Amino acid sequence: MSTAVTLPGPTATARSRTHPQLVLDVGAVERNVRTIRRVAGTALLAVVKADGFGCGAEATARAALAAGATGLGTATLDEAVRLRRAGFAGRVLSWLHPVDADWETALRLRIDLGVSSVDHLRAVALAARRTGSTARVHLHVDTGMARDGAPVREWRRLVREAAAALDAVETVGVMGHLPCADDPGHASNADGARLFLGAVAAARAAGLRPSLRSLAATEAALRLPGTAFDLVRVGGGLHGIGPGLEAAATLTAPVVLTRSVRRGTPVGYGHDGVAEADTVLATLPVGYADGLPRGLHPDAAVQLAGRRCRVVGRVSMDQVVVDAGPHGVRPGEVATVFGPGRGGAPTTADWARWAGTVERDVLTAIGPRVERAEVRS
Ligand SMILES: *Cc1c(COP(=O)(O)O)cnc(C)c1O
Repeated sequence: MSTAVTLPGPTATARSRTHPQLVLDVGAVERNVRTIRRVAGTALLAVVKADGFGCGAEATARAALAAGATGLGTATLDEAVRLRRAGFAGRVLSWLHPVDADWETALRLRIDLGVSSVDHLRAVALAARRTGSTARVHLHVDTGMARDGAPVREWRRLVREAAAALDAVETVGVMGHLPCADDPGHASNADGARLFLGAVAAARAAGLRPSLRSLAATEAALRLPGTAFDLVRVGGGLHGIGPGLEAAATLTAPVVLTRSVRRGTPVGYGHDGVAEADTVLATLPVGYADGLPRGLHPDAAVQLAGRRCRVVGRVSMDQVVVDAGPHGVRPGEVATVFGPGRGGAPTTADWARWAGTVERDVLTAIGPRVERAEVRS
């Protein structure tokens, strides 16, 4: 499904007049990496999980590395393996694993492993001894998420276990993750940072030498000075999610059909929406199967021929209807569903508000039927 074409200009790509496209501006990714590195003042790991937040893991990774990222991060081992097999030779870290993950493949491919429990550490050490390799691990401490990361009460046992496995396991890093970094004044930020430093100290006291202390993701890297330590792990920020960054993704969809309707004409399933005036309705070939949120605020709109055109009626599985206004649009006109917001076009922040969700959800929801493309601005 995915194709990558590189063309000049921020949105115009060869097939955008006939196909919905999620277009990644790799120039924007590069600028975002530089911006975050400047603010954080540390090395940056580019997190390209969930296919690079839906925009293409490889394209995002290439751009981030070109702009100075020192490695790549993923949630799952499969995602990390795919990057390695695609030829990314530098540091690749994954951190969300079942205890019986395919550790041997991970070690053979020299993938750094986030480790959140004693059981995981033992399994990794066993695989390393079996294959005669040394695992590079980042011990992950829970700094307030109660999700992944070892609970603090298990931390001492975990670092002792790692210290006892020096023949097979090199602890290159300690990682944590802050739950409320988008709210800089939240008390859990200081608590999490304190806890993190305590965890690093305990690791050192156990004889470990972690050189990569990594606590901050995008929001902390930008808003919480003092949490960047040695490495920030940046996902959403690559695509412009975060303060002071530039949106890198644009979702476009061509008009496939138009019709003139009278005021009051009901539209779509359940007749939830009606035309508010005599107008022209335009049909776009993207729907909830493509990740367009189905529950939307009435303000939800796309940009068409330089104007905001509201969504009318329910989003269908494959299509959505927008009000193109009394003068209508030419067939083949390309709607911007979301993008950097140039010319008043909606952004992922708008869609997140209209759908009652977050920008990461809007972006990662975009499905495989939507063609991927690359541009550089
Ligand atoms: C997703 C994720 C990141 C990147 O998060 P952003 O806030 O999008 O930068 C970093 N660390 C962990 C553990 C994650 O799960």
